[in-house]
Amino acid sequence: MSREMDKPLISLHLVDSDTSLAKVPDEAPKVGILGSGDFARSLATRLVSSGFKVVVGSRNPKRTAGLFPSAAQVTFQEEAVSSPEVIFVAVFREHYSSLCSLSDQLAGKILVDVSNPTEQEHLQHRESNAEYLASLFPTCTVVKAFNVISAWTLQAGPRDGNRQVPICSDQPEAKRAVSEMAITMGFMPVDMGSLASAREMEAMPLRLLPAWKVPTLLALGLFICFYAYNFVRDVLQPYVQESKNKFFKLPVSVVNTTLPCVAYVLLSLVYLPGVLAATLQLRRGTKYHRFPDWLDHWLQHRKQIGLLSFFCAALHALYSFCLPLRRSHRYDLVNLAVKQVLANKSHLWVEEEVWRMEIYLSLGVLALGTLSLLAVTSLPSIANSLNWREFSFVQSSLGFVALVLSTLHTLTYGWTRAFEESRYKFYLPPTFTLTLLVPCVVILAKALFLLPFISRRLARIRRGWERDGAIKFTLPTDNSLAEKTSHV
Ligand code: NAP
Repeated sequence: MSREMDKPLISLHLVDSDTSLAKVPDEAPKVGILGSGDFARSLATRLVSSGFKVVVGSRNPKRTAGLFPSAAQVTFQEEAVSSPEVIFVAVFREHYSSLCSLSDQLAGKILVDVSNPTEQEHLQHRESNAEYLASLFPTCTVVKAFNVISAWTLQAGPRDGNRQVPICSDQPEAKRAVSEMAITMGFMPVDMGSLASAREMEAMPLRLLPAWKVPTLLALGLFICFYAYNFVRDVLQPYVQESKNKFFKLPVSVVNTTLPCVAYVLLSLVYLPGVLAATLQLRRGTKYHRFPDWLDHWLQHRKQIGLLSFFCAALHALYSFCLPLRRSHRYDLVNLAVKQVLANKSHLWVEEEVWRMEIYLSLGVLALGTLSLLAVTSLPSIANSLNWREFSFVQSSLGFVALVLSTLHTLTYGWTRAFEESRYKFYLPPTFTLTLLVPCVVILAKALFLLPFISRRLARIRRGWERDGAIKFTLPTDNSLAEKTSHV
Protein backbone atom coordinates (compact mmCIF):
# COMPACT_ATOMS: atom_id res chain seq x y z
CA MET A 1 0.00 0.00 0.00
CA SER A 2 2.72 2.45 0.95
CA ARG A 3 4.49 1.51 -2.31
CA GLU A 4 1.29 2.40 -4.17
CA MET A 5 1.21 5.74 -2.38
CA ASP A 6 4.79 6.46 -3.43
CA LYS A 7 3.83 6.07 -7.07
CA PRO A 8 2.84 9.49 -8.46
CA LEU A 9 -0.58 9.65 -10.11
CA ILE A 10 0.76 12.54 -12.19
CA SER A 11 4.05 11.65 -13.79
CA LEU A 12 6.94 13.79 -12.64
CA HIS A 13 7.94 14.24 -16.25
CA LEU A 14 4.53 15.80 -16.95
CA VAL A 15 4.68 18.02 -13.87
CA ASP A 16 8.20 19.26 -14.56
CA SER A 17 7.71 19.74 -18.30
CA ASP A 18 4.69 21.99 -17.71
CA THR A 19 6.30 25.39 -17.24
CA SER A 20 3.04 26.91 -15.98
CA LEU A 21 3.43 24.70 -12.88
CA ALA A 22 6.96 25.80 -12.13
CA LYS A 23 6.43 29.34 -10.84
CA VAL A 24 3.42 31.10 -9.32
CA PRO A 25 3.37 34.89 -8.78
CA ASP A 26 3.87 36.03 -5.16
CA GLU A 27 0.57 37.94 -5.04
CA ALA A 28 -1.48 34.79 -5.95
CA PRO A 29 -4.03 33.65 -3.32
CA LYS A 30 -2.69 30.90 -1.03
CA VAL A 31 -4.56 27.63 -0.57
CA GLY A 32 -3.71 24.87 1.89
CA ILE A 33 -4.11 21.12 1.41
CA LEU A 34 -3.97 18.59 4.24
CA GLY A 35 -2.85 15.17 2.99
CA SER A 36 -0.47 14.15 0.23
CA GLY A 37 -2.36 11.31 -1.45
CA ASP A 38 -3.73 10.93 -4.98
CA PHE A 39 -6.40 13.58 -4.57
CA ALA A 40 -4.06 16.09 -2.91
CA ARG A 41 -1.50 15.71 -5.71
CA SER A 42 -4.05 16.21 -8.50
CA LEU A 43 -5.67 19.11 -6.65
CA ALA A 44 -2.31 20.81 -6.06
CA THR A 45 -1.47 20.53 -9.76
CA ARG A 46 -4.84 21.97 -10.84
CA LEU A 47 -4.62 24.79 -8.27
CA VAL A 48 -1.08 25.74 -9.28
CA SER A 49 -1.99 25.73 -12.98
CA SER A 50 -5.04 27.90 -12.16
CA GLY A 51 -2.80 30.54 -10.57
CA PHE A 52 -3.04 29.68 -6.85
CA LYS A 53 -0.16 29.40 -4.41
CA VAL A 54 -0.35 25.97 -2.80
CA VAL A 55 1.01 24.75 0.51
CA VAL A 56 0.62 21.06 1.30
CA GLY A 57 0.57 19.73 4.88
CA SER A 58 1.96 16.25 5.26
CA ARG A 59 2.99 14.10 8.21
CA ASN A 60 6.13 13.27 6.25
CA PRO A 61 6.91 16.14 3.82
CA LYS A 62 10.37 14.80 2.95
CA ARG A 63 8.92 11.58 1.55
CA THR A 64 6.14 13.19 -0.48
CA ALA A 65 7.57 16.56 -1.63
CA GLY A 66 9.00 15.11 -4.86
CA LEU A 67 5.55 13.98 -6.01
CA PHE A 68 4.14 17.52 -6.15
CA PRO A 69 4.77 20.26 -8.73
CA SER A 70 7.85 22.25 -7.76
CA ALA A 71 5.71 25.40 -7.38
CA ALA A 72 3.77 23.79 -4.50
CA GLN A 73 5.31 24.04 -1.05
CA VAL A 74 5.21 20.75 0.86
CA THR A 75 5.72 21.07 4.59
CA PHE A 76 4.51 19.83 7.97
CA GLN A 77 0.78 20.09 8.72
CA GLU A 78 1.18 22.80 11.42
CA GLU A 79 3.13 25.06 9.10
CA ALA A 80 0.86 24.44 6.11
CA VAL A 81 -2.34 25.58 7.84
CA SER A 82 -0.92 28.72 9.45
CA SER A 83 -1.33 31.24 6.60
CA PRO A 84 -4.02 30.11 4.03
CA GLU A 85 -7.66 31.03 4.67
CA VAL A 86 -9.01 28.08 2.67
CA ILE A 87 -7.74 24.57 3.47
CA PHE A 88 -8.72 21.42 1.59
CA VAL A 89 -8.96 18.36 3.84
CA ALA A 90 -7.80 15.55 1.51
CA VAL A 91 -7.71 12.77 4.11
CA PHE A 92 -10.20 10.00 4.89
CA ARG A 93 -12.90 10.45 7.54
CA GLU A 94 -11.28 7.97 9.93
CA HIS A 95 -8.20 10.23 10.09
CA TYR A 96 -10.07 13.50 10.79
CA SER A 97 -9.56 13.11 14.53
CA SER A 98 -5.76 12.95 14.01
CA LEU A 99 -6.01 16.57 12.78
CA CYS A 100 -7.54 17.81 16.08
CA SER A 101 -4.12 18.92 17.29
CA LEU A 102 -4.33 21.65 14.61
CA SER A 103 -7.58 23.10 16.06
CA ASP A 104 -6.01 26.37 17.28
CA GLN A 105 -4.26 27.16 13.96
CA LEU A 106 -7.40 26.25 12.01
CA ALA A 107 -9.78 28.46 14.05
CA GLY A 108 -11.82 30.84 11.83
CA LYS A 109 -10.66 29.23 8.56
CA ILE A 110 -12.62 27.56 5.76
CA LEU A 111 -12.20 23.78 5.63
CA VAL A 112 -13.18 22.16 2.34
CA ASP A 113 -14.29 18.56 2.87
CA VAL A 114 -13.68 16.54 -0.33
CA SER A 115 -14.20 13.09 1.17
CA ASN A 116 -16.37 10.27 -0.06
CA PRO A 117 -17.59 7.43 2.16
CA THR A 118 -17.76 3.84 1.01
CA GLU A 119 -21.26 2.38 0.63
CA GLN A 120 -20.91 0.63 3.99
CA GLU A 121 -19.70 3.81 5.74
CA HIS A 122 -22.57 5.78 4.20
CA LEU A 123 -25.10 3.35 5.68
CA GLN A 124 -23.23 3.13 8.99
CA HIS A 125 -22.98 6.88 9.74
CA ARG A 126 -26.15 8.95 9.98
CA GLU A 127 -24.16 12.17 9.91
CA SER A 128 -22.23 13.10 6.77
CA ASN A 129 -18.41 13.29 6.74
CA ALA A 130 -18.65 17.08 6.36
CA GLU A 131 -20.96 17.41 9.39
CA TYR A 132 -18.63 15.18 11.37
CA LEU A 133 -15.68 17.41 10.38
CA ALA A 134 -17.71 20.49 11.41
CA SER A 135 -18.42 18.90 14.81
CA LEU A 136 -14.67 18.28 15.33
CA PHE A 137 -13.77 21.87 14.34
CA PRO A 138 -16.61 24.09 15.64
CA THR A 139 -14.54 27.27 15.15
CA CYS A 140 -14.10 26.60 11.43
CA THR A 141 -16.51 26.93 8.52
CA VAL A 142 -16.88 23.65 6.67
CA VAL A 143 -17.72 23.61 2.95
CA LYS A 144 -18.46 20.35 1.17
CA ALA A 145 -17.16 20.43 -2.41
CA PHE A 146 -15.21 18.59 -5.12
CA ASN A 147 -16.13 15.14 -3.78
CA VAL A 148 -17.79 14.18 -7.08
CA ILE A 149 -14.62 15.05 -9.03
CA SER A 150 -12.11 12.23 -9.28
CA ALA A 151 -8.37 12.73 -8.91
CA TRP A 152 -8.17 11.73 -12.56
CA THR A 153 -10.54 14.52 -13.71
CA LEU A 154 -8.65 17.03 -11.59
CA GLN A 155 -5.44 15.91 -13.20
CA ALA A 156 -6.73 15.76 -16.80
CA GLY A 157 -8.64 19.02 -16.44
CA PRO A 158 -12.38 19.66 -16.70
CA ARG A 159 -12.43 19.19 -20.49
CA ASP A 160 -12.16 15.42 -20.11
CA GLY A 161 -14.67 14.76 -17.34
CA ASN A 162 -17.59 15.96 -15.29
CA ARG A 163 -17.52 19.76 -14.95
CA GLN A 164 -20.21 20.19 -12.30
CA VAL A 165 -19.08 20.67 -8.72
CA PRO A 166 -21.93 20.57 -6.18
CA ILE A 167 -21.11 22.80 -3.19
CA CYS A 168 -22.86 23.18 0.17
CA SER A 169 -22.19 25.01 3.41
CA ASP A 170 -24.01 26.81 6.22
CA GLN A 171 -21.98 29.96 5.48
CA PRO A 172 -22.90 31.71 2.18
CA GLU A 173 -19.63 33.71 2.17
CA ALA A 174 -17.49 30.58 2.48
CA LYS A 175 -19.58 28.87 -0.20
CA ARG A 176 -19.05 31.85 -2.52
CA ALA A 177 -15.28 31.80 -1.95
CA VAL A 178 -15.03 28.08 -2.81
CA SER A 179 -17.39 28.51 -5.79
CA GLU A 180 -15.13 31.24 -7.19
CA MET A 181 -12.13 28.94 -6.78
CA ALA A 182 -14.00 26.20 -8.65
CA ILE A 183 -14.77 28.59 -11.52
CA THR A 184 -11.12 29.69 -11.68
CA MET A 185 -10.15 26.01 -11.91
CA GLY A 186 -12.52 25.56 -14.88
CA PHE A 187 -15.40 23.84 -13.06
CA MET A 188 -19.07 24.74 -12.76
CA PRO A 189 -20.24 25.17 -9.15
CA VAL A 190 -23.76 24.00 -8.30
CA ASP A 191 -25.21 25.43 -5.09
CA MET A 192 -26.67 22.58 -3.04
CA GLY A 193 -27.70 24.75 -0.06
CA SER A 194 -26.77 24.16 3.56
CA LEU A 195 -24.33 21.60 5.00
CA ALA A 196 -27.30 19.29 5.62
CA SER A 197 -27.11 18.47 1.88
CA ALA A 198 -23.62 16.99 2.36
CA ARG A 199 -25.08 13.51 2.95
CA GLU A 200 -26.92 13.66 -0.36
CA MET A 201 -23.72 14.88 -2.06
CA GLU A 202 -21.74 12.05 -0.52
CA ALA A 203 -24.28 9.56 -1.89
CA MET A 204 -23.81 10.89 -5.46
CA PRO A 205 -20.59 9.04 -6.33
CA LEU A 206 -22.02 5.85 -4.81
CA ARG A 207 -24.84 5.64 -7.34
CA LEU A 208 -24.41 3.19 -10.19
CA LEU A 209 -26.84 4.07 -12.98
CA PRO A 210 -29.92 3.90 -10.69
CA ALA A 211 -32.44 4.59 -13.48
CA TRP A 212 -31.12 1.60 -15.44
CA LYS A 213 -31.53 -1.10 -12.77
CA VAL A 214 -35.15 -2.12 -13.43
CA PRO A 215 -34.98 -1.77 -17.26
CA THR A 216 -31.75 -3.81 -17.35
CA LEU A 217 -33.26 -6.52 -15.15
CA LEU A 218 -36.35 -6.53 -17.36
CA ALA A 219 -34.23 -6.91 -20.52
CA LEU A 220 -32.14 -9.65 -18.89
CA GLY A 221 -35.27 -11.48 -17.69
CA LEU A 222 -36.79 -11.35 -21.18
CA PHE A 223 -33.52 -12.51 -22.71
CA ILE A 224 -33.30 -15.52 -20.38
CA CYS A 225 -36.94 -16.53 -20.98
CA PHE A 226 -36.74 -16.24 -24.79
CA TYR A 227 -33.31 -17.90 -24.90
CA ALA A 228 -34.63 -20.86 -22.88
CA TYR A 229 -37.71 -21.08 -25.11
CA ASN A 230 -35.62 -20.99 -28.31
CA PHE A 231 -33.20 -23.53 -26.83
CA VAL A 232 -36.03 -25.97 -26.18
CA ARG A 233 -37.48 -25.52 -29.67
CA ASP A 234 -34.30 -25.28 -31.79
CA VAL A 235 -31.81 -27.48 -29.92
CA LEU A 236 -33.52 -29.76 -27.42
CA GLN A 237 -36.40 -30.89 -29.62
CA PRO A 238 -34.17 -32.05 -32.55
CA TYR A 239 -31.87 -33.78 -30.04
CA VAL A 240 -34.65 -35.63 -28.22
CA GLN A 241 -37.04 -36.42 -31.08
CA GLU A 242 -34.68 -36.69 -34.05
CA SER A 243 -31.31 -37.48 -32.37
CA LYS A 244 -29.77 -34.48 -34.15
CA ASN A 245 -26.97 -32.57 -32.44
CA LYS A 246 -27.74 -28.88 -32.85
CA PHE A 247 -25.86 -27.60 -29.81
CA PHE A 248 -23.53 -25.59 -32.07
CA LYS A 249 -26.45 -23.17 -32.46
CA LEU A 250 -26.16 -21.97 -28.85
CA PRO A 251 -23.55 -19.16 -29.27
CA VAL A 252 -24.81 -17.46 -32.44
CA SER A 253 -28.02 -18.81 -33.89
CA VAL A 254 -30.07 -19.05 -30.68
CA VAL A 255 -28.73 -15.70 -29.47
CA ASN A 256 -29.68 -14.13 -32.79
CA THR A 257 -33.24 -15.47 -32.63
CA THR A 258 -33.53 -14.27 -29.04
CA LEU A 259 -32.26 -10.69 -29.52
CA PRO A 260 -35.00 -9.49 -31.90
CA CYS A 261 -37.66 -10.96 -29.58
CA VAL A 262 -36.24 -8.96 -26.64
CA ALA A 263 -35.84 -5.78 -28.75
CA TYR A 264 -39.38 -6.03 -30.10
CA VAL A 265 -41.09 -6.76 -26.79
CA LEU A 266 -39.07 -4.01 -25.05
CA LEU A 267 -40.12 -1.51 -27.72
CA SER A 268 -43.76 -2.41 -27.15
CA LEU A 269 -43.21 -2.01 -23.39
CA VAL A 270 -42.19 1.62 -24.07
CA TYR A 271 -45.67 2.35 -25.45
CA LEU A 272 -47.78 0.02 -23.28
CA PRO A 273 -47.71 2.23 -20.13
CA GLY A 274 -48.95 5.21 -22.19
CA VAL A 275 -51.86 3.06 -23.38
CA LEU A 276 -52.61 1.93 -19.81
CA ALA A 277 -52.44 5.51 -18.55
CA ALA A 278 -54.83 6.72 -21.25
CA THR A 279 -57.22 3.83 -20.52
CA LEU A 280 -57.17 4.73 -16.81
CA GLN A 281 -57.89 8.38 -17.58
CA LEU A 282 -60.77 7.42 -19.88
CA ARG A 283 -62.21 5.09 -17.25
CA ARG A 284 -61.88 7.57 -14.42
CA GLY A 285 -63.05 10.46 -16.58
CA THR A 286 -60.35 12.71 -15.13
CA LYS A 287 -56.62 13.29 -15.16
CA TYR A 288 -56.59 14.51 -11.55
CA HIS A 289 -56.11 11.07 -10.02
CA ARG A 290 -52.67 9.68 -9.36
CA PHE A 291 -51.59 6.67 -11.35
CA PRO A 292 -50.63 3.60 -9.32
CA ASP A 293 -46.97 3.70 -8.27
CA TRP A 294 -45.94 0.82 -10.56
CA LEU A 295 -47.36 2.66 -13.58
CA ASP A 296 -45.69 5.91 -12.54
CA HIS A 297 -42.30 4.15 -12.32
CA TRP A 298 -42.88 2.40 -15.60
CA LEU A 299 -43.67 5.72 -17.33
CA GLN A 300 -40.48 7.23 -15.93
CA HIS A 301 -38.30 4.35 -17.25
CA ARG A 302 -39.51 4.44 -20.87
CA LYS A 303 -36.35 6.11 -22.17
CA GLN A 304 -34.07 3.43 -20.71
CA ILE A 305 -36.34 0.61 -21.95
CA GLY A 306 -36.29 2.18 -25.43
CA LEU A 307 -32.51 2.48 -25.45
CA LEU A 308 -32.14 -1.16 -24.39
CA SER A 309 -34.51 -2.14 -27.19
CA PHE A 310 -32.27 -0.25 -29.63
CA PHE A 311 -29.19 -1.96 -28.18
CA CYS A 312 -30.70 -5.44 -28.70
CA ALA A 313 -31.89 -4.53 -32.22
CA ALA A 314 -28.40 -3.26 -33.14
CA LEU A 315 -26.84 -6.49 -31.80
CA HIS A 316 -29.38 -8.50 -33.82
CA ALA A 317 -28.31 -6.63 -36.98
CA LEU A 318 -24.63 -7.31 -36.24
CA TYR A 319 -25.25 -11.00 -35.53
CA SER A 320 -27.27 -11.28 -38.74
CA PHE A 321 -24.35 -9.85 -40.73
CA CYS A 322 -22.10 -12.51 -39.19
CA LEU A 323 -24.39 -15.47 -39.96
CA PRO A 324 -22.86 -16.21 -43.40
CA LEU A 325 -19.36 -16.24 -41.85
CA ARG A 326 -20.13 -19.37 -39.81
CA ARG A 327 -18.62 -22.65 -40.94
CA SER A 328 -21.99 -24.40 -40.38
CA HIS A 329 -23.61 -22.01 -42.86
CA ARG A 330 -21.00 -22.82 -45.52
CA TYR A 331 -21.51 -26.56 -45.02
CA ASP A 332 -25.27 -26.07 -45.30
CA LEU A 333 -24.86 -24.18 -48.59
CA VAL A 334 -22.53 -26.80 -50.06
CA ASN A 335 -24.81 -29.65 -48.94
CA LEU A 336 -27.78 -27.92 -50.51
CA ALA A 337 -25.89 -27.47 -53.77
CA VAL A 338 -24.88 -31.15 -53.79
CA LYS A 339 -28.51 -32.16 -53.14
CA GLN A 340 -29.55 -29.95 -56.04
CA VAL A 341 -27.09 -31.60 -58.38
CA LEU A 342 -28.07 -35.10 -57.24
CA ALA A 343 -31.74 -34.30 -57.71
CA ASN A 344 -30.79 -32.91 -61.13
CA LYS A 345 -32.35 -29.54 -60.39
CA SER A 346 -30.35 -26.81 -62.05
CA HIS A 347 -32.25 -23.67 -61.12
CA LEU A 348 -33.51 -23.15 -57.58
CA TRP A 349 -35.76 -20.10 -57.35
CA VAL A 350 -38.87 -19.79 -55.20
CA GLU A 351 -40.51 -16.52 -56.16
CA GLU A 352 -42.56 -16.23 -52.94
CA GLU A 353 -39.51 -16.82 -50.74
CA VAL A 354 -37.48 -14.27 -52.68
CA TRP A 355 -40.13 -11.58 -52.21
CA ARG A 356 -40.67 -12.47 -48.55
CA MET A 357 -36.96 -12.12 -47.82
CA GLU A 358 -36.60 -8.82 -49.73
CA ILE A 359 -39.54 -7.26 -47.84
CA TYR A 360 -38.48 -8.77 -44.52
CA LEU A 361 -34.94 -7.33 -44.79
CA SER A 362 -36.10 -3.93 -45.97
CA LEU A 363 -38.60 -3.60 -43.10
CA GLY A 364 -35.93 -4.66 -40.59
CA VAL A 365 -33.49 -2.03 -41.84
CA LEU A 366 -36.19 0.65 -41.78
CA ALA A 367 -37.22 -0.32 -38.23
CA LEU A 368 -33.60 -0.20 -37.03
CA GLY A 369 -33.05 3.16 -38.76
CA THR A 370 -36.11 4.66 -37.06
CA LEU A 371 -35.03 3.22 -33.71
CA SER A 372 -31.56 4.78 -34.18
CA LEU A 373 -33.21 8.15 -34.68
CA LEU A 374 -35.12 7.68 -31.40
CA ALA A 375 -31.94 6.70 -29.59
CA VAL A 376 -29.99 9.70 -30.92
CA THR A 377 -32.72 12.19 -30.01
CA SER A 378 -32.86 10.86 -26.47
CA LEU A 379 -29.27 12.10 -25.91
CA PRO A 380 -29.53 15.23 -23.71
CA SER A 381 -27.42 17.39 -26.06
CA ILE A 382 -29.72 16.59 -29.03
CA ALA A 383 -32.94 16.61 -26.98
CA ASN A 384 -32.05 20.10 -25.69
CA SER A 385 -31.92 21.43 -29.24
CA LEU A 386 -35.49 20.27 -29.98
CA ASN A 387 -38.64 22.04 -28.85
CA TRP A 388 -41.33 20.08 -27.01
CA ARG A 389 -43.37 19.45 -30.18
CA GLU A 390 -40.38 18.18 -32.15
CA PHE A 391 -39.27 15.95 -29.28
CA SER A 392 -42.71 14.40 -28.79
CA PHE A 393 -43.09 13.94 -32.58
CA VAL A 394 -39.85 11.93 -32.72
CA GLN A 395 -40.34 10.00 -29.49
CA SER A 396 -44.06 9.38 -29.79
CA SER A 397 -45.00 9.35 -33.50
CA LEU A 398 -41.73 8.04 -34.97
CA GLY A 399 -41.44 5.59 -32.07
CA PHE A 400 -44.84 4.21 -32.92
CA VAL A 401 -43.80 3.97 -36.60
CA ALA A 402 -40.77 1.93 -35.42
CA LEU A 403 -43.14 -0.41 -33.55
CA VAL A 404 -45.36 -0.86 -36.63
CA LEU A 405 -42.31 -1.49 -38.86
CA SER A 406 -40.98 -4.05 -36.37
CA THR A 407 -44.38 -5.76 -36.35
CA LEU A 408 -44.39 -5.96 -40.16
CA HIS A 409 -40.78 -7.23 -40.04
CA THR A 410 -41.87 -9.98 -37.62
CA LEU A 411 -44.96 -10.85 -39.67
CA THR A 412 -42.97 -11.21 -42.91
CA TYR A 413 -40.47 -13.36 -41.02
CA GLY A 414 -43.30 -15.60 -39.79
CA TRP A 415 -45.27 -15.54 -43.06
CA THR A 416 -47.38 -18.75 -43.05
CA ARG A 417 -45.30 -20.55 -40.44
CA ALA A 418 -47.80 -19.97 -37.66
CA PHE A 419 -50.26 -22.18 -39.58
CA GLU A 420 -47.87 -25.07 -40.27
CA GLU A 421 -48.16 -28.01 -37.87
CA SER A 422 -44.47 -28.93 -38.25
CA ARG A 423 -43.52 -25.57 -36.68
CA TYR A 424 -45.10 -26.51 -33.33
CA LYS A 425 -42.15 -28.30 -31.75
CA PHE A 426 -43.01 -30.02 -28.47
CA TYR A 427 -46.44 -28.42 -29.09
CA LEU A 428 -44.79 -25.01 -28.53
CA PRO A 429 -45.80 -22.25 -30.97
CA PRO A 430 -43.05 -20.49 -32.97
CA THR A 431 -41.34 -17.76 -30.89
CA PHE A 432 -42.42 -14.92 -33.19
CA THR A 433 -46.12 -15.64 -32.46
CA LEU A 434 -45.45 -15.06 -28.74
CA THR A 435 -43.55 -11.82 -29.34
CA LEU A 436 -46.45 -10.44 -31.40
CA LEU A 437 -48.87 -10.52 -28.44
CA VAL A 438 -47.98 -7.31 -26.53
CA PRO A 439 -47.07 -5.17 -29.58
CA CYS A 440 -50.35 -6.09 -31.30
CA VAL A 441 -52.31 -5.11 -28.17
CA VAL A 442 -50.48 -1.75 -28.13
CA ILE A 443 -51.05 -1.10 -31.84
CA LEU A 444 -54.71 -2.06 -31.57
CA ALA A 445 -55.24 0.16 -28.52
CA LYS A 446 -53.48 3.08 -30.25
CA ALA A 447 -55.73 2.57 -33.28
CA LEU A 448 -58.80 2.59 -31.00
CA PHE A 449 -57.63 5.86 -29.40
CA LEU A 450 -57.63 7.37 -32.88
CA LEU A 451 -61.40 6.86 -33.21
CA PRO A 452 -62.91 10.37 -33.12
CA PHE A 453 -65.20 9.91 -30.09
CA ILE A 454 -62.41 8.38 -28.00
CA SER A 455 -59.62 10.76 -29.10
CA ARG A 456 -61.88 13.80 -28.49
CA ARG A 457 -62.78 12.59 -25.01
CA LEU A 458 -59.13 11.86 -24.18
CA ALA A 459 -58.04 15.27 -25.46
CA ARG A 460 -60.68 16.98 -23.27
CA ILE A 461 -59.65 15.00 -20.21
CA ARG A 462 -56.01 15.99 -20.79
CA ARG A 463 -57.06 19.64 -20.98
CA GLY A 464 -58.66 19.39 -17.54
CA TRP A 465 -62.25 18.35 -18.32
CA GLU A 466 -63.85 15.99 -15.77
CA ARG A 467 -66.74 13.59 -16.12
CA ASP A 468 -68.23 14.70 -12.78
CA GLY A 469 -68.01 18.34 -13.82
CA ALA A 470 -65.82 19.61 -10.99
CA ILE A 471 -62.05 19.51 -10.71
CA LYS A 472 -61.15 17.64 -7.55
CA PHE A 473 -57.55 17.39 -6.44
CA THR A 474 -56.76 14.34 -4.35
CA LEU A 475 -53.84 15.09 -2.12
CA PRO A 476 -51.55 12.17 -1.45
CA THR A 477 -51.55 11.11 2.19
CA ASP A 478 -47.82 10.47 2.10
CA ASN A 479 -45.61 13.57 1.62
CA SER A 480 -43.06 11.73 -0.48
CA LEU A 481 -45.75 10.88 -3.02
CA ALA A 482 -46.44 14.56 -3.62
CA GLU A 483 -42.98 14.97 -5.16
CA LYS A 484 -43.62 12.37 -7.86
CA THR A 485 -45.16 13.36 -11.19
CA SER A 486 -46.55 11.42 -14.09
CA HIS A 487 -45.73 12.19 -17.67
CA VAL A 488 -47.90 10.70 -20.35
P1 NAP B 1 -4.84 8.65 -0.20
O1 NAP B 1 -4.11 8.61 -1.48
O2 NAP B 1 -4.86 7.43 0.64
O3 NAP B 1 -4.32 9.87 0.67
C1 NAP B 1 -4.75 10.09 1.99
C2 NAP B 1 -3.78 11.01 2.66
O4 NAP B 1 -4.23 11.27 3.98
C3 NAP B 1 -2.41 10.41 2.83
O5 NAP B 1 -1.59 10.68 1.73
C4 NAP B 1 -1.88 11.06 4.10
O6 NAP B 1 -0.97 12.06 3.75
C5 NAP B 1 -3.12 11.75 4.71
N1 NAP B 1 -3.30 11.48 6.15
C6 NAP B 1 -3.45 12.42 7.10
N2 NAP B 1 -3.60 11.86 8.29
C7 NAP B 1 -3.51 10.54 8.12
C8 NAP B 1 -3.57 9.43 9.01
N3 NAP B 1 -3.75 9.59 10.31
N4 NAP B 1 -3.41 8.20 8.48
C9 NAP B 1 -3.24 8.01 7.16
N5 NAP B 1 -3.20 9.05 6.28
C10 NAP B 1 -3.32 10.29 6.75
O7 NAP B 1 -6.35 9.04 -0.50
P2 NAP B 1 -6.92 9.98 -1.65
O8 NAP B 1 -7.35 9.14 -2.77
O9 NAP B 1 -6.00 11.11 -1.91
O10 NAP B 1 -8.25 10.54 -0.95
C11 NAP B 1 -8.18 11.56 0.01
C12 NAP B 1 -9.58 12.08 0.26
O11 NAP B 1 -10.11 12.58 -0.97
C13 NAP B 1 -10.54 11.00 0.74
O12 NAP B 1 -11.43 11.53 1.71
C14 NAP B 1 -11.33 10.64 -0.51
O13 NAP B 1 -12.62 10.18 -0.22
C15 NAP B 1 -11.37 11.98 -1.22
N6 NAP B 1 -11.57 11.84 -2.67
C16 NAP B 1 -10.67 11.12 -3.40
C17 NAP B 1 -10.87 11.01 -4.77
C18 NAP B 1 -9.90 10.23 -5.64
O14 NAP B 1 -10.14 10.12 -6.85
N7 NAP B 1 -8.82 9.71 -5.11
C19 NAP B 1 -11.99 11.62 -5.38
C20 NAP B 1 -12.87 12.37 -4.61
C21 NAP B 1 -12.63 12.47 -3.25
P3 NAP B 1 0.35 12.27 4.63
O15 NAP B 1 0.94 10.92 4.88
O16 NAP B 1 1.24 13.12 3.78
O17 NAP B 1 -0.08 12.96 5.89
